[in-house]
Amino acid sequence: MILIVGAGLAGLSTAYHLGDRPCRVVEKEKEAGGLCRSYQMDGFTFDVTGHLLHFRQAEIKALVERLLAGRLAKHGRRSFIYSHRTYTEYPFQVNTHGLPPEVVRECLLGFIATLTNPSPAPPEGRSFKAWILENLGEGMARHFMVPFNEKLWQAPLDELTSDWVSWLVPKPELKDVINGALGIKDKAFGYNPSFLYPAQGGIGVLPKAFLPWVRDIVYGSELAEVDTTRRRATFLDGRVEDYDRLVSTIPVPELVRRCPDLPAAIRDAAAGLRCVSVYNVNLGVARERVSDHHWIYFPEPEYPFYRAGFPMNFAPALGRPGCSSLYVEVSHRPTESVPPAELLGRVRAGLERAGILRPDDEIVAADVRDIRYAYVLFDRHRARALPAILEELERRGIHSIGRYGRWEHTSMEDAIAQGKQLAETLRARR
Ligand SMILES: Cc1cc2nc3c(=O)[nH]c(=O)nc-3n(C[C@H](O)[C@H](O)[C@H](O)COP(=O)(O)OP(=O)(O)OC[C@H]3O[C@@H](n4cnc5c(N)ncnc54)[C@H](O)[C@@H]3O)c2cc1C
Repeated sequence: MILIVGAGLAGLSTAYHLGDRPCRVVEKEKEAGGLCRSYQMDGFTFDVTGHLLHFRQAEIKALVERLLAGRLAKHGRRSFIYSHRTYTEYPFQVNTHGLPPEVVRECLLGFIATLTNPSPAPPEGRSFKAWILENLGEGMARHFMVPFNEKLWQAPLDELTSDWVSWLVPKPELKDVINGALGIKDKAFGYNPSFLYPAQGGIGVLPKAFLPWVRDIVYGSELAEVDTTRRRATFLDGRVEDYDRLVSTIPVPELVRRCPDLPAAIRDAAAGLRCVSVYNVNLGVARERVSDHHWIYFPEPEYPFYRAGFPMNFAPALGRPGCSSLYVEVSHRPTESVPPAELLGRVRAGLERAGILRPDDEIVAADVRDIRYAYVLFDRHRARALPAILEELERRGIHSIGRYGRWEHTSMEDAIAQGKQLAETLRARR
């Protein structure tokens, strides 16, 4: 029997693609979806922060379009950066037009310097900060990349590696940077110029669409311990499952903590993996269209959030008529916490400073969720430790997949693709 722990997209996709192979999914929550869930509150539908579908793999896109046939709407991205009291289009590196002239000049000169002074540093092992300076230059580092990323990652950028950045932060060509400084637009830039999103029901309709094909699923049962030698999993509710293969989609440090028979070196290595948590603040406001944008990035420290988005601008059915809804994301270290009332106060003050909310705006729905595992930190320890951890687990018949199973920065599409790929491998081993 194949035992799958976690009914997020990676676990559901594994079960879906296993087809008639016997498997059971066990999920600790009362419903499927993991991070890709939506919920209703006071007439609004909120996601556990904004979840938009971007595709790079044609077959995963086709699968999602088949599962959600007729229910997806396509949108041209309207994402912006708010800095120097100005909105500029995302991504920053090719859209500096509109910023104060001295800022644009600094960004241009810094970028040009990266082309004329190639760095002597070898590419491997280079920090994220060095990557930014080498590829984008000092101006873009100072006015966006460093403050934004330090706010998001809650860590100095020279502690982070740069092996994950290439698809998220593309290096532009000089022509694109110049065009962006002059306000000339000749192409969409970046990894997500358009996106898909369900017209109704929030992103939670996606995991639900897998469920008719997942025959054996248990809810409300949390994995407590794995005996990797006997291949036996025990759950907090007393459930005991013997398995041939275990597919785990829970965060890998949580999994390893639950495997007492793993070597001490592996357990120590997993305990040293770092991540950043995110408060997702969802708001309903009694005023229509508080912003025209889809989402906005905030690099400057006077705004406590790094991003705010407007779900009703991509699916009006997500809220009450005459109202707007917002999701706001605030990074924090997992060891730090802010009481919800204080956080809501800080968020509201920041939104007013940015001119998005007005002092007399009535908040008609407010909710705070803490995403304990949100962004995995790509540091030197991860680079050294992760391959050994995953290899040891594989040797013992445990496949750790998904965003937190692989301990990486990946999307919904990737979670589905990993489940598919693993199921195909397991089926081939029949
Ligand atoms: C702030 C933020 C914004 C994002 N925005 C986007 C976006 O716009 N577009 C995009 O494509 N992706 C986005 N993502 C990424 C996306 O959420 C993930 O890639 C995807 O949902 C991961 O699915 P998963 O199945 O790997 O993990 P999860 O969704 O985390 O699923 C793991 C499951 O395991 C369960 N579980 C955990 N521990 C146990 C246990 N001990 N026992 C039993 N069950 C357990 C959990 O309850 C959960 O259901 C975003 C992520 C974050 C943090």
